[in-house]
Amino acid sequence: MITAGCDIGSLTSKAVVMKGNRLLGISIVRSRTRPAETAEKVLAEALAAAGIERSELSRCVGTGYGRENIPFVDEVHSEIVCHGKGARWLVPTANTVIDIGGQDCKAMRLDKDGNVVKFLANDKCAAGTGRFLEVMAKVLGVDVSELGRFSEHAKKPVVLASTCTVWAQADVIQYINSGETLDDIGAGINNAMAGRVATLANAVRIEREICMTGGVAKNTGVVRALEKLVGTRIVIPRKADPQLAGAIGAALLAQG
Ligand code: ADP
Repeated sequence: MITAGCDIGSLTSKAVVMKGNRLLGISIVRSRTRPAETAEKVLAEALAAAGIERSELSRCVGTGYGRENIPFVDEVHSEIVCHGKGARWLVPTANTVIDIGGQDCKAMRLDKDGNVVKFLANDKCAAGTGRFLEVMAKVLGVDVSELGRFSEHAKKPVVLASTCTVWAQADVIQYINSGETLDDIGAGINNAMAGRVATLANAVRIEREICMTGGVAKNTGVVRALEKLVGTRIVIPRKADPQLAGAIGAALLAQG
């Protein structure tokens, strides 16, 4: 049975095509203002990558913030359910999942079957989300994908007085003006982000192993800082891009 999962997120949209346990094709695109168009594009790209015709798809499940606007899905599921399923597939030993996307951060605890038993989210404020990193990267004049490696070279990371995106932005500008290095400022941004996420992660009562998903899992600076704060190793999925967790969970749920 060939299925697809389509995760229409706030910043990026993801689609995967799966046959049983096998990932056949994937796509990640920037979300546009019209979710239906974005969904068509991202699914078409994943199908092309898999070499599969649309007519060969048995079922497709939608998730993510734009899930109600995907025209072609057979059913939709919440991001929580899909991320839990996807994370378990990506890292079968994971009992705690930290997912940081563009506009929210979720911490989940899973039971032995991969069902979510405890769940907390920050979706009220940009602090502690990918949006915070996007804004800070723009102030530094770098791509968000470059932020992580600043932490590797930092000698004395700066401390941001506030994790509020507006105040932190002002802090970063001040640090640039006072001649701090990009490495030290970037590391300070990653540390501030990790601090905000650690509070949420601790509140779900962490159980090993921790798996991190969502686009921010690709920022090694945030991951390493978070590991120090929660005192537990964090596993980053190797089986597939961690940003695909929701779409993978959706494709698995489409298998019934
Ligand atoms: P959503 O599903 O809400 O759109 P994602 O899970 O796609 O969110 O995550 C988007 C965030 O991931 C971005 O805001 C950015 O901070 C981060 N991100 C995306 N790609 C990378 C990358 N290559 N390296 C580091 N961070 C990344």
